[in-house]
Amino acid sequence: MDTTSPAVFVNGALLRRYIGQKVRAVIQVIRSDIGSVIGKSTDDQQIVVKGSPQPPLTSYLEVIGIAESDNTIRADVWTNFGDSFDAQNYNELCKLANARAMTEVQMEMEVETNSSLQESAVPKPQVIYRCKKCRRIVAVEENVVQHEPGKGEECFAWKKRSGNPEQVQCSSIFVEPMKWMQTIHDGLVEEKLLCFGCNGRLGYFNWSGMQCSCGAWVNPAFQLNKSRIDECKSESNLPNPNLKTETG
Ligand SMILES: [Zn+2]
Ligand SMILES: [Zn+2]
Repeated sequence: MDTTSPAVFVNGALLRRYIGQKVRAVIQVIRSDIGSVIGKSTDDQQIVVKGSPQPPLTSYLEVIGIAESDNTIRADVWTNFGDSFDAQNYNELCKLANARAMTEVQMEMEVETNSSLQESAVPKPQVIYRCKKCRRIVAVEENVVQHEPGKGEECFAWKKRSGNPEQVQCSSIFVEPMKWMQTIHDGLVEEKLLCFGCNGRLGYFNWSGMQCSCGAWVNPAFQLNKSRIDECKSESNLPNPNLKTETG
């Protein structure tokens, strides 16, 4: 249990978020038993506060302790707050204090998400793509060019529609131009992409762009058909196939 960090202001509703943590709450005493006090939180929820307060107790108490469950606090600090107290005001303070806490949590999450998108020096499992036929690695996660999924069927000309409006998933991945793609060095605008290992067809490229099955345009497009490649997770950082000078 982390009891060293400062107590979080809570009301009844917020208590469940902080189970096992140090909290601070003001309660209105309903009943006082041996070893516990039944009270009402500032947002009108019943809370059991365990511990041994020094009598006499006033109607309002501030307690600091560990949140044991969504309605129990084991308190070690009891402070008399008198017989009249602006519970509503405190409740607002609670919400404000937690609003800041929530924003901080959200910001931390965003930073984490951002850094996981960026390349880091720390080895982490990454997605690799292999040719289904010969198992050669044709791309890794960082070669993939992401695109916003399009709106499916409505992006296509009528002629090209498959008649299945449900199908909006991407049937391909798009990557950056890579060294192994022999056909892109031939000066053509568009051509098949053949595997450097088995010469099997993996996809298609078009410098002036292609439309994904989801409807989104990718420009330029180096498309690898998902049905021709396997997506696997690797435990270590493999060399980027695009940086290899030897194309096998
Ligand atoms: Zn797509
Ligand atoms: Zn192959």
